[in-house]
Amino acid sequence: MKEIKNCPFCGGKAITMIDDAVVYTEQNGGTQFIYSIIENKYKVGCPSCNVWVAAKSNIRQGADGEVRILSKGLDEAIDKWNRRV
Ligand SMILES: [Zn+2]
Repeated sequence: MKEIKNCPFCGGKAITMIDDAVVYTEQNGGTQFIYSIIENKYKVGCPSCNVWVAAKSNIRQGADGEVRILSKGLDEAIDKWNRRV
């Protein structure tokens, strides 16, 4: 995991969490599965100050079994947080 800067308001340690997780499938013509999708919504922030930034992961696995990571929610959320600090 990337390094996370401390909270700019209180100097406390920032934490990460999964705020929401969704798994669903894309189908072709109603019966044939094309791929399944995992979307985890990550939050990075300070629970004491209740300040958060968030970003979603998008991970797909198709019928060929290959896993494609379209976006890494936690890395993006940490980048957002570190830019703010
Ligand atoms: Zn704080």
